[in-house]
Amino acid sequence: MTKPAILIPGRIHPRVETRLAETCEIITVASADEPGLDAETLARVRGAAVSGRFPASLMAVLPNLEIIGSFGVGYDGVDVAEAARRGVIVTHTPDVLNDEVADTAVALLLNTVRRFPQAEAYLRVGRWEGEGAFPLSPLSLKGRRVGIHGLGRIGLEIAARLLPFKVEIHYFSRHKRDGVPYVYHDSLKALATAVDTLISIVPSTPETVGAIDAEILKALGPTGVLINVGRGATVNEDDLVKALTDGTIAAAGLDVYADEPRVSSGLLELQNASLLPHVGSGSVATRDAMADLVVDNLLTWFAKGEPLTPVPETPFRK
Ligand code: NDP
Repeated sequence: MTKPAILIPGRIHPRVETRLAETCEIITVASADEPGLDAETLARVRGAAVSGRFPASLMAVLPNLEIIGSFGVGYDGVDVAEAARRGVIVTHTPDVLNDEVADTAVALLLNTVRRFPQAEAYLRVGRWEGEGAFPLSPLSLKGRRVGIHGLGRIGLEIAARLLPFKVEIHYFSRHKRDGVPYVYHDSLKALATAVDTLISIVPSTPETVGAIDAEILKALGPTGVLINVGRGATVNEDDLVKALTDGTIAAAGLDVYADEPRVSSGLLELQNASLLPHVGSGSVATRDAMADLVVDNLLTWFAKGEPLTPVPETPFRK
């Protein structure tokens, strides 16, 4: 039987390619924008595995594409509307990373309010011995009211982890959830007004892009802390830098940025911002699990005609 041909545009976790190569023909190209392949090769491609961008222009030159396995739970780099129009299934990697990302969110929150990275740097350069104790952190997690923007798979895990910290937990999603002990608000503004700590864990969509702006930061108030582990595009970074500089809010912890891997100099210069390089799901075990789910989606599709975890925009119907 002919092996299905799988296109891999750009870089992806090596386990994806290694496992797929056991039963599939792998065609790798450097970029999703310029595949540089002849028509016969393009016509052979039935599946794709991608970490990052998969634009409509690439789908347009793959006449027999059936399925795109996207690495990660967020799939804003894949043109899912175009995939749906063409009848191409897009899959992603939900759930296997929930715990890792929720752990990262809590660690980033603690780093932001208690300044642990700065304290460790102080010790390492000899300032503890030379100058005495590290300055007390002006902020604390104790007594905070935490608002979760997006109480989905990961948001629920963040909330569960925060309960033992004895903080109040509120949330805003477009839909109120039954059976959760957290306070619901019907808008982001209402949530930001009710809390002093906002954790954003929503996907990047036309509705969420730029949603956290000057107005939301002002509502959070002068003791306010913003944590973003969702997508950088959700925050207006210019408004955030201004709010952190003029005291509109107290501090921010970010794992994601508007223009990764570039981080604006405005953010880099701030002492009240704790910055991580998009490491939310970044452990060996979790990235391996994500790679396996990309592969298992493709292999199940070619073996049984069903994907495991299609995105809602391209649902699988028998
Ligand atoms: P889910 O789809 O399970 O949850 C998303 C949540 O956001 C839902 O509660 C949804 O609820 C809410 N939401 C969606 N749109 C809006 C909106 N316009 N306004 C308010 N709430 C909204 O996704 P996951 O929890 O699995 O992942 C969330 C995102 O986290 C991913 O899309 C990805 O971008 C990001 N992420 C970041 C990682 C990192 O490394 N930093 C790692 C993994 C994920 P409702 O539909 O009711 O609005």
